[in-house]
Amino acid sequence: MTFHELGLQQSLLDAVNDLGFETPSEVQEKAIPILLSKESDLVALAQTGTGKTAAFGFPLIQKINGDSRTTQGLILSPTRELCVQIAKEMQLYSKYEKGMGIVAIYGGASISDQAKKIKRGAQIVVATPGRMKDMISRGMVDISKIDYCILDEADEMLNMGFYEDIKDILSNTPEDKSTWLFSATMPKEVATIAKKFMHKPIEITV
Ligand code: AMP
Repeated sequence: MTFHELGLQQSLLDAVNDLGFETPSEVQEKAIPILLSKESDLVALAQTGTGKTAAFGFPLIQKINGDSRTTQGLILSPTRELCVQIAKEMQLYSKYEKGMGIVAIYGGASISDQAKKIKRGAQIVVATPGRMKDMISRGMVDISKIDYCILDEADEMLNMGFYEDIKDILSNTPEDKSTWLFSATMPKEVATIAKKFMHKPIEITV
């Protein structure tokens, strides 16, 4: 399999080439064609280090409308380190996209700086649940029109006690968005989230 065969657009293939990725990883091979071709929810069981950021990142970038400045995609991740890392990767992946704003928001850093970045245009927001909730309640970010919500390391987020925050955040998003959940393990709590907040997700395991 090649990235071209998975259906990636040329601008992403150029970025892949620059990054030196030769062949898609297993999770990329399984997830990317589904996410590009269907408006379906997805549950992916995948560990860190399997290339899962690109597995959701490439399709997300391809689906975002760069002509609109509205926030269209939200990625929730458990820690600020992961949040920063995902945003950095996504910036590399989207280097040939025009007008693509990717902003990371997380605790322990200036909220007004983050709000300014959002204001300048953030089609994709990468956030930790606590800071996300805070910024929603202060009217600093609007996720009421997102098309895609990614829950990354869902098991970790729940382990860290973010269930209520996630629930609140999701209640601020449209009912008809697509949700892509990535988790290394599938404890009861993750299955509950999938059942409560997702519509007939396709499941993949790597
Ligand atoms: P992740 O599981 O998303 O944290 O990715 C782990 C590392 O693998 C990151 O440094 C990626 O840049 C890298 N990576 C992702 N996909 C590929 C690929 N298809 N080929 C080579 N490296 C990759």
